This record gives sequence, C-alpha cells and structure tokens, in this order.
Amino acid sequence: MRIQEGVDPEDPLVFDSQQLHRQPGASQKLQREVPIDMSWRNDVSAAVSGGPIPVEFLLESAHDGILVAAQGRIPLEANCVRCLNPTEWQEDIHVQQFYAYPEHANDGDVEAEGDVAEIRGDYLDFRDAFRDAVVLALPLTPTCSEDCLGLCSQCGFVMAKDPQHKHEEIDPRWSELAKFADPDRPAQGE
Ligand SMILES: [Zn+2]
Ligand SMILES: [Zn+2]
Repeated sequence: MRIQEGVDPEDPLVFDSQQLHRQPGASQKLQREVPIDMSWRNDVSAAVSGGPIPVEFLLESAHDGILVAAQGRIPLEANCVRCLNPTEWQEDIHVQQFYAYPEHANDGDVEAEGDVAEIRGDYLDFRDAFRDAVVLALPLTPTCSEDCLGLCSQCGFVMAKDPQHKHEEIDPRWSELAKFADPDRPAQGE
C-alpha cells in the first residue's frame, strides 16, 4: 500500500482507490461525514462550523482514471450586504474531480475535461477540490432575503422594521434659499 506524503487515509475526503483501480465500469457509492472548516470563507461569507455534515460520494472507474463526484448541503453564514444583519442558509454543492492514471494524465481528451489530478499512490485526495467548491459557492453579495429593504440611506434605520420609515422633506422654500446662499452647491439628493 502506497501512501502519499501528507495524505491521511482516515480523512473523509481521502479515498482508497484500490477497489476501483484498473476496473473500468466499476463504481462505488459512499456517504461520509465531512467536517466543515471555518477557514473556508471569502471576504463576506463563510462556511459554518458546527459539526460534520453528510456528503454523498460516487466514485466511477474509467479506462484512463477515476472520477469522484460529491454532493451535499453546506451551512453558510454572512452579513446581509443590504441590512448588515447576520444571516444563515444552506447551499447545495456539487463537486467533481477526475483522477487520471499517470500514463493518461497528459492525454488530450483527459485534459479537455478540465481540472485533472494524477493518481499517485493508492489514495485519491479530494480535499482541495471539495474546499474550492465550497469557497466558490460562497456568494460575494449575500442578502438575508431577495427583497431585503436594506437600511435608510439617511439614518441607517433597518427598513424591514418599518417599511414606511422616511424623513420629513426639507421645506421647498428653505431649499430655494439654500440655492441663493451657494449657487455651486449641488441639488439635494445628488
Ligand atoms: Zn438584509
Ligand atoms: Zn432614516
């Protein structure tokens, strides 16, 4: 049994490929509990740590390598970009990574399939592919709801608490006077 340096065979994102090795057509379904790493984040959103989540895996053996596919629901959290309230939700993610046998790693048709890892040793290391997929699923402009009303542009009031919230308009006679005071001053609201 050959173990690559830095690959922990006990990691739920590491797969023993020996059963499928050189067995085109063979496949294997697995369900594993995958711990969510708090470091999986972008500037505004993060994956939530709160125990491992169930993820389904399908490993399929082909003549030139092994395809690993995964799907699961990842708990995420962020502050709404409109009202700044913390919000949590779940996102479905689908991840695929093809692992080519060394002699096929540079095949044109294999390369055309996109991201290709080479099978080294007896284990498939799915950790980077999974983390990248979670980070890509994190939105850059998360909102607590599609129709979040955001904050009042004048005082920062959370508009969802009272959609009728507004400020008294400045008496038009006063705004006329303001124009006289400084003719270069831009009009209100610009
Ligand atoms: Zn919001
Ligand atoms: Zn206001």
